[in-house]
Amino acid sequence: MNSTDVIVVGAGPTGLMLACELAQAGVRCKVLERRTAQPNITRAFAVHARTLELLDARGLADDLLERGVPVRRVQPAPGAVLDLSTLRTRYPMVLIVPQSGTEHLLEARARELGVEIVRGAEVTGLRQDGRRVLLELAGGGTESAGYVVGCDGAHSRVRGLAGIDFAGKQYETHILLADVRLAAPPEDSLFAWANREGVVLMVPFGDGWFRAIAWDRLREQVPLDVPLPLEEMRDAFLRIAGTDFGMAEQRWSSRFRSERRQARRYRAGRVFLAGDAAHVHSPLGGQGMNTGLQDAMNLGWKLAAAVRGQAPDGLLDSYERERHRVGAQVLALTDAFNRLVLGRSALRRALRALTLRLVLRLRWTREPLAGRLTGLGIRYPAPARGAHPWTGRRVPDLRCAQGRLYELLRDGRHLLVDTTRAGGVARAAGDAIGNRATIARYAGPVVAGLPGAVLIRPDGYVAWAAEDGPELPGQAVAAVVRWCGGPARTPSARPRT
Ligand SMILES: Cc1cc2nc3c(=O)[nH]c(=O)nc-3n(C[C@H](O)[C@H](O)[C@H](O)COP(=O)(O)OP(=O)(O)OC[C@H]3O[C@@H](n4cnc5c(N)ncnc54)[C@H](O)[C@@H]3O)c2cc1C
Repeated sequence: MNSTDVIVVGAGPTGLMLACELAQAGVRCKVLERRTAQPNITRAFAVHARTLELLDARGLADDLLERGVPVRRVQPAPGAVLDLSTLRTRYPMVLIVPQSGTEHLLEARARELGVEIVRGAEVTGLRQDGRRVLLELAGGGTESAGYVVGCDGAHSRVRGLAGIDFAGKQYETHILLADVRLAAPPEDSLFAWANREGVVLMVPFGDGWFRAIAWDRLREQVPLDVPLPLEEMRDAFLRIAGTDFGMAEQRWSSRFRSERRQARRYRAGRVFLAGDAAHVHSPLGGQGMNTGLQDAMNLGWKLAAAVRGQAPDGLLDSYERERHRVGAQVLALTDAFNRLVLGRSALRRALRALTLRLVLRLRWTREPLAGRLTGLGIRYPAPARGAHPWTGRRVPDLRCAQGRLYELLRDGRHLLVDTTRAGGVARAAGDAIGNRATIARYAGPVVAGLPGAVLIRPDGYVAWAAEDGPELPGQAVAAVVRWCGGPARTPSARPRT
């Protein structure tokens, strides 16, 4: 029987990202994928700012930017505009890039890191005991690993085999999708329009092809297996947006119904769920792949620590605690978008659109909404009472003497940033910390409220922080030992500054 540290089931974006994280951390990992070839159709196209920051933390964002079209304004409802260009991030945009482009990038990275991707391997059975998980494959083979992660999509076999319930409901309105060429493309790079008959979206892939998407009430009763001709999409656009942008040629089309469901648990013993296997929702808001990639970033370093025997108590359980909550928020957000544009009552839709226009006008309501949509507002609850208020926060791309913070995260290790004026923590605690974590000195402008030292997790959130004071070097060493493992060594006395 083949055996490894971690098996990832599914080579979609979530599984590939997770495999990269594990391999970078030195964990033996294998990806089992049912399909024999990479799909060339695309579902997701919107990559949000927080995902771009996290890809930047692995040196992948610039490659993706080259493949995509940045959009700096989005319009969730007529008259309600969200200006992304003012976001405080290196990536004030939503990047339009076909999902296949993101998958190619991640697969190339996974192969570079030595991940074994086995195609034509469909998982059909699963058993686990306290030490290992055994998988059965269609055709008779078996594989075993210390941990298994189901990244096998909305109809996850792993989820069913692990006995995890997928609670939720199905939406009524079908979604029509087609890849088309246009004689008269819209001026806006991302066109969206809604009226009482439905919603249409036109998304540029940047290579002359466009993704036309329609939620058309008139087509709700059409069975999902009926082919979708170009004429039907043109008609939906003409009735809803008043134009079909000269739709001429169609290379692919499909119709489906989306669901709103979330796994009750993200962990059953040695089996975890991530991505669509853990949560599915309306594509409005472009959240699914973004959430899956961020699940993978959250779980990767935790699983790697567990495989190395260095995970502090409760670290593996913190994956579900942190990401289930984010998944539930994403379901709520996308459901609100769905009701906003597709609700049955015209009066309620109009009231919701009015409320959204108000929300986007006022800074104190606009910023939280933008934070939820872009992922920049994600914050994890502090693991313990009395933790520093920065604990669980997303860290901005601070300028350090050694480089940008997100560049310094690229080796996938924890990063201790010393923000004291004289860099005393780094000097006093550096030897004791050794190579357990990267150490950097803050070199940006003076910022009110910046703690004396901040330990940043490999996924860009604050693990620990403390204010400046004589105890700080010792506290920093204790925090690094707790989070990164290894016996503590006493730091040398802090030099006077
Ligand atoms: C129209 C549309 C538009 C969307 N737009 C966006 C967007 O703009 N932004 C966004 O973030 N998200 C968007 N999404 C959602 C996004 O496409 C999904 O969330 C994303 O594909 C999930 O990735 P995943 O890796 O978790 O699962 P998947 O992409 O579904 O991958 C699962 C993989 O597991 C494999 N597999 C399944 N069962 C087995 C098995 N038993 N054994 C082995 N392998 C198996 C499958 O073959 C597949 O390759 C959109 C979705 C739709 C439908």
